Amino acid sequence: MRVLQGTGVSPGVNVGKPINIERTLDFSITATISLDEGIKELTAKYKSIIEKYNSSSREIEAEVLEAYILILNDSELTNSLSELNEANLEQIYDVFLEQSEVFKQMDDEYFQQRSEDIEAIGKELIFTLQDISIEFDADVPQVIFANELTPNETSSINLNLVKGFVVKEGGPTSHAVIVAKNYGIPCILGISIADFDIDNAVEVIINGSTGELTINPDESSLKIVEDYKKTITKQLESYTEENLKKLGIELRANIGSTDEIKSFKDSLIKSVGLFRSEFLYIEESTEPKLDSLINSNNLLNEKFEKTIVYRTLDIGGDKQVDYLNLPQEENPFLGVRGVRLTLENRQLFETQISSILDSNINGKVKIMFPMVATLEDFQEAKEVVFSVADKLGSEIPKIGIMVETPSVAISPEIFIDEVDFFSIGTNDLLQYSFAADRGITSLNKYHDALNPSFLKLLHNIINTANQNDIEVSVCGDMASDTEGAYMLYVLGLRIFSLAPSQAPAIVSSLLKAKEVLKNINIKEILSQKNSQSVRKFII
Ligand code: PEP
Ligand code: MG
Repeated sequence: MRVLQGTGVSPGVNVGKPINIERTLDFSITATISLDEGIKELTAKYKSIIEKYNSSSREIEAEVLEAYILILNDSELTNSLSELNEANLEQIYDVFLEQSEVFKQMDDEYFQQRSEDIEAIGKELIFTLQDISIEFDADVPQVIFANELTPNETSSINLNLVKGFVVKEGGPTSHAVIVAKNYGIPCILGISIADFDIDNAVEVIINGSTGELTINPDESSLKIVEDYKKTITKQLESYTEENLKKLGIELRANIGSTDEIKSFKDSLIKSVGLFRSEFLYIEESTEPKLDSLINSNNLLNEKFEKTIVYRTLDIGGDKQVDYLNLPQEENPFLGVRGVRLTLENRQLFETQISSILDSNINGKVKIMFPMVATLEDFQEAKEVVFSVADKLGSEIPKIGIMVETPSVAISPEIFIDEVDFFSIGTNDLLQYSFAADRGITSLNKYHDALNPSFLKLLHNIINTANQNDIEVSVCGDMASDTEGAYMLYVLGLRIFSLAPSQAPAIVSSLLKAKEVLKNINIKEILSQKNSQSVRKFII
């Protein structure tokens, strides 16, 4: 048995036979069709795959291929190709490599990743000219290995039989990873067949969460996989509408990228509990225009039927945006971030508020401000919403705050006459409570949300909100963690905003919490001295 470490990019654990589907370019094989015919044939292939994708709601993959067609038929590229000797396939491929290099040099990560796509298209064109197609005949569970995986390749594979992808090259948003995530297939990046002897590898375990690849696993590793699968099956069985009702809970989604909106499918989650709007700004190289912000909101509206908790820009701290030219701060987490920053940049703030009030989400949106530390922060930000709503003649939505600074967590009662809701940001609240930067792994012992002093803070917020009939939810990672959510349920929380993929595990955990709820003594939990002893209360 041997364990190799890659980067897990699509979660899940499976066992399968390793299969190498890598086709290597061999320029000595001559073309069987002309370059023009090759481009037409590959374009037609992509179009037929797009049709297949569109008929099975795989819009994101279809969009990637639409872009492939544009690149392949780009006039600059076809002009460069037409000047070449068609028989020289290496020269044809070099044109794609040169284009790809241009993209690789760009600062923007999005364009850097597109450079891989251009190379993949070049390769596909050479294979098409040579009439080489992928041979894939899977009748046993297989873990697919390749240097990279092109859309043509993934579409030729019967994905229902694939137990995993191990891809040497490619970024987390490359085509293969999107396919893997959509199908729930574990995927690891950064390991190649050159790293082990594939001919003597009978079986592998792929763990797409940890990035571990176990070659020829022993009995005990296989047993762990079996147990893991049984747990997952059980969790999925208990993830039902009926159980949500029984628990008296509402689940909402945390959304932090356009891909997450597009690929979201979970019929039990109808609301967004945290829309991390800053990704709309971080992904761009210039400030996004009102129209594009409105379009994103409309997309969100199409996917989610009910409440959308829209968090206004939370820039600063670990989230930086070059074009805003923010001053360097020695302690950015304690600096001008979140609502402090938007209050100092009125035009930016007002444009964002306009985009919310002027889009289709108005009606079900709730506006939430991040990093509020005082009542004045909230009042000032609320005034901005009022004045924009007045200008636009829009209705004023519900307005609330993230509870993520200790000053608010200690005295939430200060806000109860003014806010419509609280949403607890346990990630920041933890780092500020324990004075431990959330990004420093070696400080993980201070990032334990089950610490009784932290639970006291949470209990205070949840109680104050419940007693005053104010909506309270948790949108920090604690709500996506089985132990964390268990304890939040015990403390009286009923709205969990989480990473959608964690929902079945959370519901299973809450069902256990419900069983013991009557006999549990909250005071006793809160009087423990450390998180280890709090854990003993979790069954
Ligand atoms: C939090 O702080 O808990 C939170 C949800 O916000 P973010 O992680 O985006 O800072
Ligand atoms: Mg936060």
